[in-house]
Amino acid sequence: MSQATITPKTQASTAFTKLKCKECGAEYEPKAMHVCEECFGPLEVKYDYSILKSNVTRQSIEAGPKSIWRYRSFLPLATDNYIDVGTGMTPLVKSTRLARRLGLKNLYIKNDAVNMPTLSFKDRVVSVALSRARELGFSTVSCASTGNLANSTAAIAAHAGLDCCVFIPADLEAGKVMGTLIYNPTLMAVKGNYDQVNRLCCEVANSHGWGFVNINLRPYYSEGSKTLGFEVAEQLGWQLPDHIVAPLASGSLYTKIYKGFQEFIKVGLVEDKSVRFSGAQAEGCSPIAQAFKEGRDFITPVKPNTIAKSIAIGNPADGIYALEIAQKTNGNIESVTDAEVIEGMKLLAETEGIFTETAGGTTIAVLKKLVEAGKIDPDETTVAYITGNGLKTQEAVQGYVGQPFVIEPKLDNFEKAYERANTLERLEWQQVLV
Ligand SMILES: *Cc1c(COP(=O)(O)O)cnc(C)c1O
Repeated sequence: MSQATITPKTQASTAFTKLKCKECGAEYEPKAMHVCEECFGPLEVKYDYSILKSNVTRQSIEAGPKSIWRYRSFLPLATDNYIDVGTGMTPLVKSTRLARRLGLKNLYIKNDAVNMPTLSFKDRVVSVALSRARELGFSTVSCASTGNLANSTAAIAAHAGLDCCVFIPADLEAGKVMGTLIYNPTLMAVKGNYDQVNRLCCEVANSHGWGFVNINLRPYYSEGSKTLGFEVAEQLGWQLPDHIVAPLASGSLYTKIYKGFQEFIKVGLVEDKSVRFSGAQAEGCSPIAQAFKEGRDFITPVKPNTIAKSIAIGNPADGIYALEIAQKTNGNIESVTDAEVIEGMKLLAETEGIFTETAGGTTIAVLKKLVEAGKIDPDETTVAYITGNGLKTQEAVQGYVGQPFVIEPKLDNFEKAYERANTLERLEWQQVLV
């Protein structure tokens, strides 16, 4: 086809072609599979970029839906029967107060703490994975989750009328558990860490024939994260930033932001430019940051022990690819302590009015650490990716924020309390009342 305007039905089925091994290049029909049968490398979705180049324009994207599906031509579906629950097009906020505090001139916050429907970036990957799962004929969908993925899978499966059975580590935050149960899936809380949950799920995937969004559907799932690259480029006025900072769990999100930028360059939607990729991990689970610091090209798995549970993956599937990107883009992968994670959450809330979860606290703390180490230039256009919502991980900041002033519904009682509030530390005042 050759017309300039987008006609999604035809361009979609032609641009998305096959699965291709990242290691040996072997190609496969786009089924539910994620490992190369020749070399056991991971499979990735392949597109015909010449078709995208002749059919997609800035205008055609801008005329699309206000969701990730405006980038539908870059996503791996054979039909236009996608699930649109309003995922994506979250705010890109120009930071003033946090930027000033850190000494940066061009800082932006990409706020996926308000993504739809379940307040994390995982809604992007699940919207894509379940759309593809439906095309491939699955009636039951599943995942191995650190929390947010279970929320997204359960919610979007409910919307799409798919049966859902999800797996989490048994020690997750209450908000993550309730944020799954409310959609009434089958929820398996496994006594073990994420890596053990994942191992169990690989066995279930083989024996049950379910669509596991991050196992046998992983090539499709991971493509959803590219939209975090696309949106930032579009929201910056069709330009790439100079530097990004994103959290790393399996490393998928980080590598796919990179792929998204590369694809926009390839099809001529933005000018070619090198973007520095920096990554954030919590010290209690930082296998990629450790490998980066030691200049290794391999990952040594660790046993997670951190409050940043949503990014606590000890054996990260895409770790080596994330390392490669950090090294070749002149970025950094840094880790911070749990105390710094909490400080990061509070700092973002107090300066920008954004309540993020522990993963976002990790990102902000690493951003601060990199600035202080001179590893981010104050003039660089820097984007910090905030990937989840703080209301889901309230345990993390319990005891690290103030207390309410408990008063009678009387004006003089308020006046007295307000006066004391201005003279006393809040915590002291609370003790006075009790
Ligand atoms: C899952 C998750 C990530 C990182 O995911 P990857 O496995 O690296 O793609 C980051 N932030 C939050 C809040 C998450 O839930």
